[in-house]
Amino acid sequence: MRLISKAEVRVLGDPGRSLLAGGNRIYMARGCDLCFPGLKAVIFVTGLCDDSCFYCPVNREKLGRDVFYVNEVRVHSIDDAVEEVARIGAEGASFTGGDPLLAPERAVPLARALKETFGPGFHIHLYTSGRRATPQLLQTLWEAGVDEIRFHPTDLSLLDRISMAKRYTGMSVGIEIPIAPGMEEWAIKIIAEAERRGGEFVNLNEMEIVGPNARALMARGYRESASRPFTVEGALESALKVLEWASRNSSIPVHFCPARFKDRIQTGNRLRNTAFRDAYWYEEATREGTVVWGEVRGAGLPQGLGEACGPGKVCLPPRKDLLLFIASRYGVDAYIVEAHPTPDRRPIVREEKIGP
Ligand code: SF4
Repeated sequence: MRLISKAEVRVLGDPGRSLLAGGNRIYMARGCDLCFPGLKAVIFVTGLCDDSCFYCPVNREKLGRDVFYVNEVRVHSIDDAVEEVARIGAEGASFTGGDPLLAPERAVPLARALKETFGPGFHIHLYTSGRRATPQLLQTLWEAGVDEIRFHPTDLSLLDRISMAKRYTGMSVGIEIPIAPGMEEWAIKIIAEAERRGGEFVNLNEMEIVGPNARALMARGYRESASRPFTVEGALESALKVLEWASRNSSIPVHFCPARFKDRIQTGNRLRNTAFRDAYWYEEATREGTVVWGEVRGAGLPQGLGEACGPGKVCLPPRKDLLLFIASRYGVDAYIVEAHPTPDRRPIVREEKIGP
């Protein structure tokens, strides 16, 4: 890490990847350690939420609906979710939403099942506004296996959840909030309060400007940054102001997570890990986090030619010479297909017809 600020101000890192300040010992929360290399499964426990933050980036097809996903794969039971986590080879999970505390009947057994299946070292962190937190619910989550809780307080009255979690559980307790111009004072107040109440870290997320929140953000005068696509203009500068304050005044670490890093690097690593792990014998995993295979389509293909992968479809390694030979020999169409490494190999990223 390099020092990016002047004088006595200590802000460490790289604005494209991660910035850290504050704390007698500068470190990132354990949940972030595994997120960086893409080793965490993002589990959308429910879309239900009591809040209506103007900056909410959650897809409106999910927000407000009691739906359940592992990364972008819809699941319908705890067993499905555990199976998907095993398929992608995750070493931890983040429970998000919505607010997972609105679906404790799912969050609690899910945490328990993940720990039972993958062992005590499988790290789980959970995001919540804290609005529904009670000593009993927090204790149940902790006993079920949630290691770290990150409160996203939508008003200051919710900050007492930090002391509640510290008092009734052994979870690591932190705060995670977005940052953009005009939110610096709020962030500073939250950091000071978090520290006073025993919080262990604060994460600042660069505010994203994406389909679901673009209109609400623009109505408040926010614009997309020209140099940092899909983020609010000035969010990095706001984060730097808060980090510089934290470097002088906070004894807990404050971490800035750039949106682009989260989307490109973390998600890219996660897809790449899954592609290499989950490729079928006839697929090639790519460094871009996709899988590529050959496909011949038509009637009359002999048995044992490759792997039957749908009605009238046979999948084979993506070798053009082989595909051309089969296409001309059996009078069928041949394709090279590239897709994300989801169980159903959707969405298709590329489909190229081979030969005439
Ligand atoms: S608490 Fe989270 S999920 Fe709920 S509205 Fe706010 S940002 Fe969206």
